[in-house]
Amino acid sequence: MPYTGASDPCKHLLNDTATSEQINQYSDQVRKGETPCHLPFCPLCHVTPDHFKRHGKRQRKILVIVEQVAHMVIGLLTCWKCPGCSTCFTGYPPFALPYKQYTLPTICAFSRRYAENDSITYRKLIQQNPIGSPQIGNAAEWQLDQSTVHRWIGTLGQFDTTTRKAQDLILQADPASTINS
Ligand SMILES: [Zn+2]
Repeated sequence: MPYTGASDPCKHLLNDTATSEQINQYSDQVRKGETPCHLPFCPLCHVTPDHFKRHGKRQRKILVIVEQVAHMVIGLLTCWKCPGCSTCFTGYPPFALPYKQYTLPTICAFSRRYAENDSITYRKLIQQNPIGSPQIGNAAEWQLDQSTVHRWIGTLGQFDTTTRKAQDLILQADPASTINS
């Protein structure tokens, strides 16, 4: 696997990741029932999240980057139950997004880099900042490829408040970005 040396200006990109320590710390909070509920109103019956009750935990695979290699860490998330309609919702930590295995710092860093540079393609971005996977198990699907980055950009455009910060980063980098259109 090509290695991007420390002097490479792209190197910082490869350090943008939540860490396993952060994930473990959050999992501890979930275990102790200490995670705050940042969910919005129930979309089905409009009960305020202040009334949501903890309703167990679920495991979540999360990919953190260490030395250009993606490592899988199992984190815990809190399930919340709406007392109005009994629907369960999953609470996410600040560093993770629903349906995304890579962490928000990684997603933001790559998206921002893409937005900053008019001439860069997804393929080039990945070539410059390759992220591999350990040679165990079903490794191929952990490797960061250009279609993943393409989907990240689309996702950031769709999300509302959860990734407002990520969008801000992109918009700061490129005020002409059409992410909100
Ligand atoms: Zn409800």
